[in-house]
Amino acid sequence: MRAMLLQHQGDRLRSVELPDPIPGPGQLLLDVGCCGVCRTDLHVLDGELERPQLPLVLGHEIVGRVVAQGDGARRFSPGTRVGVPWLGWTCGGCPACRAGRENLCEHARFTGYTVDGGYATRTVADERYCFAIPPTYEDSHAAPLLCAGLIGYRALRAAGDAEQLGVYGFGAAAHIVAQVARFEGRRVFAFTRQGDDAAQDFARNLGAAWAGPSNGPAPEPLDAAILFAPVGALVPHALRAVRPGGTVVCAGIHMSELPAMPYELLWGERVLRSIANLTRDDGERFFKLAAQIHIQTHVQILELAQANEALDRLRSGAVEGALVLSPLA
Ligand SMILES: [Zn+2]
Ligand SMILES: [Zn+2]
Repeated sequence: MRAMLLQHQGDRLRSVELPDPIPGPGQLLLDVGCCGVCRTDLHVLDGELERPQLPLVLGHEIVGRVVAQGDGARRFSPGTRVGVPWLGWTCGGCPACRAGRENLCEHARFTGYTVDGGYATRTVADERYCFAIPPTYEDSHAAPLLCAGLIGYRALRAAGDAEQLGVYGFGAAAHIVAQVARFEGRRVFAFTRQGDDAAQDFARNLGAAWAGPSNGPAPEPLDAAILFAPVGALVPHALRAVRPGGTVVCAGIHMSELPAMPYELLWGERVLRSIANLTRDDGERFFKLAAQIHIQTHVQILELAQANEALDRLRSGAVEGALVLSPLA
C-alpha cells in the first residue's frame, strides 16, 4: 500500500510504500476511498497532542470498502462501505467504559493517533467501531461526517435545547452542525475571524440567522455557544454572549490557553464545558440523522500525495468546508 507517513512530530509527511496491514481478530482490511483532513491531525503533527504512535499514518475520517475480514469479524461483508472514526478501540472494563462513557476510556486507542489511520490506500480497523454510511453520500461527502460531523453532533447535544445557538469558528464541523441545528429548528449565529467575509457569507448561505466577528458582541442573547475555533481567548467572548443558565461547549481536542476573566462572566449558572471524543452511540444516532437530513458537506478533494499541502491549507484557514484526501483523485 501507499501511505503518507509521519516519522517524527514536526516533520513533513513522506510518501512511502508499505506492506498491506494484516487484519487482526475482529478487524477489517479496507481500501480507502477517501479520508478527511481534520484540525486534530495538525495538533498531532505539531506536537500539541503528545505520545502518538510513531511512525504514524494520520487521518480519522475514513470511508473505505471491506477487502478482507480478520478472525471473527462478520459485521460487514467484503465490498461493504464503512466509515472509520477517531475512536478506534476501548477497553470495556475501566470505570468510564462501565459507566457507558467510552469516549473517556482510560485505555482508548484513537485512529490516526495511537493506531494508524487513513492517509493511505489501505488501513485496518476494529469493526465494532466502524459505522455504516448512508448510501446517499458519496465517499468524499461522507468523510467529514466521521469527525467534524460526529464531534459537532456531540457538541450540539451538549448544548441542550438551545434555540439561539452561537458557533465560533465556521469550518468543517460548524458547517455540518449548522445544518443539523437548522433542521432541529434552532437559529444559528456564526462567529468568524474579523474580516473573514467569505466565512460569514458561507455561514449565511447555510442558513445562519447572523454572521459576524468572533471578538464582537452577539446581536441577541444566546442560549448556548459551541467553540470550534481552538482559541482560548474566545471563551470569555462566548460566555458574555450567552444568557444566564446558558452553556458554552468547547469542542476542540486542543485549545490555546484560556485567559483570566471576571467571575461575573460565569455567574448566573452559566456552564463552561468541553466534549471529548465520541461514543459509538453518538455515531449510530448521528448517521441515522444524516440519512434523514442529507447534510450538504462542502468538500475540496486533493490527491493523497498532496496531504502536506492539505494540512498547510487547513493551518492557514484557506478552506471552505472540509478538505478530503483521495487515493483515486
Ligand atoms: Zn475503558
Ligand atoms: Zn477530527
